Amino acid sequence: MRTVIGLEVHAQLLTQTKLFCSCSADYFGAPPNTHTCPVCLGMPGALPVLNERAVEYALKAALALHCEIPRRSLFARKNYFYPDLPKGYQISQYDEPLAVRGYLDLPTGKRVRIRRVHLEEDAGKLLHTEDGVTLVDLNRAGVPLIEIVSEPDLSSPKEARLYMEELRRVLRYLGICSGDMEEGSLRCDANISLAPAEPAKTSRPDEVWLGTKIEIKNMNSFRAIEEALKFEEHRQREVLARGGTLIQETRLWNEKTEQTEPMRGKEESEDYRYFPDPDLVPLEIDDAWRERVKKSLPELPAQKRVRWAHEYKLPEYDIAVLTEERPIAEYFESVVKLYNNPKDVSNWMMSEVLKLLKETQTTEIPLKPEHCARVLQMVSSGQINRTVAKEVLEESFKTGKAPDEIVQEKGLSQISDESALAEIVMKVLAENPKAVADFKSGKEAVISFLQGQVMKVTGGKADPKRTRDMLLRKLREL
Ligand SMILES: [Zn+2]
Repeated sequence: MRTVIGLEVHAQLLTQTKLFCSCSADYFGAPPNTHTCPVCLGMPGALPVLNERAVEYALKAALALHCEIPRRSLFARKNYFYPDLPKGYQISQYDEPLAVRGYLDLPTGKRVRIRRVHLEEDAGKLLHTEDGVTLVDLNRAGVPLIEIVSEPDLSSPKEARLYMEELRRVLRYLGICSGDMEEGSLRCDANISLAPAEPAKTSRPDEVWLGTKIEIKNMNSFRAIEEALKFEEHRQREVLARGGTLIQETRLWNEKTEQTEPMRGKEESEDYRYFPDPDLVPLEIDDAWRERVKKSLPELPAQKRVRWAHEYKLPEYDIAVLTEERPIAEYFESVVKLYNNPKDVSNWMMSEVLKLLKETQTTEIPLKPEHCARVLQMVSSGQINRTVAKEVLEESFKTGKAPDEIVQEKGLSQISDESALAEIVMKVLAENPKAVADFKSGKEAVISFLQGQVMKVTGGKADPKRTRDMLLRKLREL
């Protein structure tokens, strides 16, 4: 048996206003029902007006996913009755979506086909209190979403996770979604089935689901996606191995028990009775609009990874870390332009700069690229050693001061004057007669101790290798 997985992802678009009204879409943390108006509250007679920016963002995503964009797409009403949906229907797209037939390349080289990308509005939120009361907050109702549906091309829980991570990376590179899964800005439902090892020869696209397709919801992190699918893969295998049969159903991932559980009947026999929304004209996207958006796309993570491997010859690991976020990737390239040693820049960024960035909990690196490049130059020219460089980097990161200024102010320049170093070495030898005697009796390992003493006296400003050489020279002269 092989595992067949397809994902349906919902991504909230980072527009200022909602999809069909001028309410602020930045609702997170706002008092309940403060971002509402007659349109998103579904008052009779209120008419929706399409947010052009949302269409533009959806187009960006669709084009970044290499989709075809039909000239015309249609908004439809998806009817269902639930308290988080004030109109009694959700405005979505059904048989004429914004975009079709795209793909996403994973870092492993696997290509996952995208069936469709469409625009729709989000529903409100229900809050179930401990007293058994349910409260309704409609701040989220009408916030623009795109739904991205993959073909069932994913063949393992791990691959599903990689797909989701890459999709998030793309959306964040485009600047159209925050990608925050805990806040629910990025959500994922999965379909999973077990099919015979060989695909049927006459299969239509749908027949890839030869096993019983089971939908899983409520996965709020990358880890949850992988774990829920692993659990489900295992569960289905066991049922089939026992000779049992699976029923097509929707199951919820329970984070606490780490199991999937059958969902209550609600969506079992759903009939949404989709029909075109008479309040909205068809959405027309002409060639000029499509081309304009296409031209505005940044270099995407997959392209960047290929180019970097070729241009900078960096290891795969370095490339993965440094291309994860667009500002970090762009920072790396700015530094390399000024100091052309990509591996050196990569090492310093991964070991020091990203560590400092993590401590500040921001995404913008306050250290100027030219300052970072300057510190690396000083190390390579021998003006400062690596220990001092870390100190200078941190200081420049925190204060914005130029590295040269810091080195001068603190007197951190490496002791490059031979006679000054010789003087310190002689002083250290005079103060440690036992170590000298040990060395003379053949315990050469004691050299490291003496080297450490010199580094201590100089506050780390002596060059370690030259110190060692000079110690050996002086000890042999004694
Ligand atoms: Zn509104």
